[in-house]
Amino acid sequence: MGRPIYLDYNATTPVRPAVAAAMTEALTTVGNPSSVHGFGRAARARLETAREQVAALVGARPAQVVFTSGGTEANNLAVAGSGRERVLVSAIEHDSVLKAAAAETIPVDRRGAVDLDALERMLATPAAPALVAVMLANNETGAIQPVADAARITHASGALLHCDAVQAAGRIAIDFNGLSVDLMTLSAHKLGGPAGVGALIIADHVNLAARQRGGGQERGRRAGTENLAGIVGFGVAAEIAAAELDATARLADLRDDLERRAMGAVPGALVFGRDGPRLSNTSCLALPGVASEVQVMALDLAGVAVSAGSACSSGKVQSSHVLRAMGADAVTAVSAIRVSLGWGSKAVDVDRFLEAWCALAARRRAVGSLTAA
Ligand code: PLP
Repeated sequence: MGRPIYLDYNATTPVRPAVAAAMTEALTTVGNPSSVHGFGRAARARLETAREQVAALVGARPAQVVFTSGGTEANNLAVAGSGRERVLVSAIEHDSVLKAAAAETIPVDRRGAVDLDALERMLATPAAPALVAVMLANNETGAIQPVADAARITHASGALLHCDAVQAAGRIAIDFNGLSVDLMTLSAHKLGGPAGVGALIIADHVNLAARQRGGGQERGRRAGTENLAGIVGFGVAAEIAAAELDATARLADLRDDLERRAMGAVPGALVFGRDGPRLSNTSCLALPGVASEVQVMALDLAGVAVSAGSACSSGKVQSSHVLRAMGADAVTAVSAIRVSLGWGSKAVDVDRFLEAWCALAARRRAVGSLTAA
């Protein structure tokens, strides 16, 4: 079968060796950043260095960074901590935003970009002070959202804008102030750091209510002794990701080659979000008539790891809410997979993927279960 191929960087990325080394060092050094003695002060120094590295990745100031247990907690903190009674979220948000509050849904267009006219109309209805959530890049399709424009519209109505930048951070250049968002979520394990650590970036004017109360850590905005090793790893990963943005942008060549060859070899195959701005590493491919789980399993058997674009719970395939929001029909929305590349991806990985995927398509065509799109 050959070596296993990992093409699931949007699910999680390998931890960079320099990150693992820095974490090991932090793990084997005692000290609580809140202690006043020398051990504590050394731990505090490590914490603040990581804060600077993470802030630098998105052009924020270190004081605006609140470390959390990951993207999920940061999204929940942003939505619940904003104290806004009315919440509007784009239809393609991650579940950690969608499930954080009862919310009104802002539609997206066929390319998977949030409908700014709809947002403007929704905000024109006078109601309670609102929080709007629009992610920077979608985890399934990679579609990059017009966040700066969403911020302008949002602010004109006096609302706040939260931006989940978990998939975008470390893949495209981000300017927290230039985007003019009020709150931004990051997660370490999507950019070469460990899982279980993330950050919420909070603009100075935002009065965020802490969800987790206890000690005064993170300037009273998130209590609990800091996960220092994780945070140190996050900092190093952020620095490496920032230095490698150009190399990440070049992944588009590999991804485009994959899509061109997939579409050429498999009649009826389609790519979601191809016509709009997208992350360079992400491809959301559909094989109408073949459930995404079947594709993921066949690829896994061939030693290639990708994700289903739809979720499977209790044995029942559920269609992707993202693809449905983009107008995909029911059959297509359950037959998409997500291929996501990263710094370790090579042309031969794409070859291996195509070999297995095209073979599956050929088998399905032979038994007549492939639907023409
Ligand atoms: N937001 C997006 C867009 C994501 O893709 C994910 C993870 O898949 C999260 C939030 C959650 O982040 P974490 O896994 O750090 O909780």
